[in-house]
Amino acid sequence: MSPRRVEVHPGKEAIVRFDPDTTFECVDSCSWCCEHGVLLYEPDVHALADRASLAESTTMVRGHTFVARTPKDRDEHVAPDGHACYYLDDDGRCTLHADHDWKPTRCSVFPLEVSHNDGELVIDVRDDAHTNCEGLGVSDRRLVDHLDAFLPPALWELDDPSTRIEL
Ligand code: SF4
Ligand code: SF4
Repeated sequence: MSPRRVEVHPGKEAIVRFDPDTTFECVDSCSWCCEHGVLLYEPDVHALADRASLAESTTMVRGHTFVARTPKDRDEHVAPDGHACYYLDDDGRCTLHADHDWKPTRCSVFPLEVSHNDGELVIDVRDDAHTNCEGLGVSDRRLVDHLDAFLPPALWELDDPSTRIEL
């Protein structure tokens, strides 16, 4: 698939590498991407601090701040180890989004992956989304037509917006 340049927000372009016919719609019964800890970019740390307790909901891993995974007393909406994102409730909803109409940048980005090449954002579908995200291919909503919903403008302001990090 030939990469192509797309204007995502006015004046903010990205290189898209995935098949433009890829469709996506988040599925209510699925919560796979919320069963893992989520990295917070620095602006997200400040935004979260305005809305909730960082001490209760975040953890540091090798110099990076994450929303913590916590043990859940339930069988659904948890990873095999019984843990899920601190903010994921029993019904598989994000309480942070529900209560504050806000969620961290990387939660918006999923199921996409952002990498950084010569100062440009390069967008692909995450490898693990192909096997775990139930929302791919279930609707006629083409991802490439709605990139603005997945890629907040703040991504273009970050020194390193890559979503794949080595810990
Ligand atoms: S903060 Fe919300 S959207 Fe992000 S992983 Fe946690 S529950 Fe999911
Ligand atoms: S893994 Fe995909 S379908 Fe499941 S909650 Fe995340 S974005 Fe939605």
